[in-house]
Amino acid sequence: MLIEASLRRRGLREGTQVDVYTPETLPMPVAGKAVGEAIKTMVEGKGIGFHPQRKLVAVDPERRELAFEGGATAAYDLLVVVPPHRCPAVVRAAGLTGETGWVPVDKGTLETSHERVFAIGDVTAIKLPVGLMLPKAGVFAHAQAEAVAHNIAAAITGQGAPEIFDGAGYCFVEMGHGVAAYAKGNFYAEPAPAVTMRSPGRLWHWGKIYFEKWWLRHWF
Ligand SMILES: Cc1cc2nc3c(=O)[nH]c(=O)nc-3n(C[C@H](O)[C@H](O)[C@H](O)COP(=O)(O)OP(=O)(O)OC[C@H]3O[C@@H](n4cnc5c(N)ncnc54)[C@H](O)[C@@H]3O)c2cc1C
Repeated sequence: MLIEASLRRRGLREGTQVDVYTPETLPMPVAGKAVGEAIKTMVEGKGIGFHPQRKLVAVDPERRELAFEGGATAAYDLLVVVPPHRCPAVVRAAGLTGETGWVPVDKGTLETSHERVFAIGDVTAIKLPVGLMLPKAGVFAHAQAEAVAHNIAAAITGQGAPEIFDGAGYCFVEMGHGVAAYAKGNFYAEPAPAVTMRSPGRLWHWGKIYFEKWWLRHWF
């Protein structure tokens, strides 16, 4: 949506086609069908093609062609791609990873199968009751870091009650032109994550800017 907005602002949108390909069934599928459908509607409302269940297997830069699992292909002029996530080799070599290729942890304390060894953020694998994994998101890495840091300090000093990471998360969905939507919820809710989406508006865009400024000022 930000690329679409940039093209529109620069007067290039008329001659441009924008498409999203994803292996997922909907955007943010773990947040549930309602959130996924809402984001899909936003994307398609901007004239962007949304192509679910398209798992990229190869890119041919000379022919400018994408190849998907199952044999489908698509042409491109400019490709913006998120490469596959992989657990760093050093973490794998340490014997911390499980069958998913990521580090299994206690969902509340983030402790690994090794006593007093913790993992947070993208390297972790936390399976939700709904069968999907907790998404890899900065908002979770941040909250997990605070809980683990607090608990390590408490264990050393013998002071303070233990904290747990409760699965709460939120995200801003930037739509371009200073407008964003906002989704918030508890990803540990049972039987499925309870996530709600707030209507797009300028407030959420400014909320994201405020969040960034606060984050940088608070921590750095
Ligand atoms: C395109 C994109 C958009 C995103 N948007 C959002 C969003 O809107 N909201 C949100 O919450 N999250 C978002 N995320 C996810 C978010 O960026 C990650 O979940 C978050 O950065 C994870 O933090 P982390 O500390 O676990 O891992 P990382 O940020 O990946 O940090 C790991 C660090 O370890 C370093 N490292 C690796 N191997 C070694 C080694 N051997 N020795 C030393 N250092 C090493 C890496 O260089 C890296 O700096 C987005 C991610 C992407 C890719």
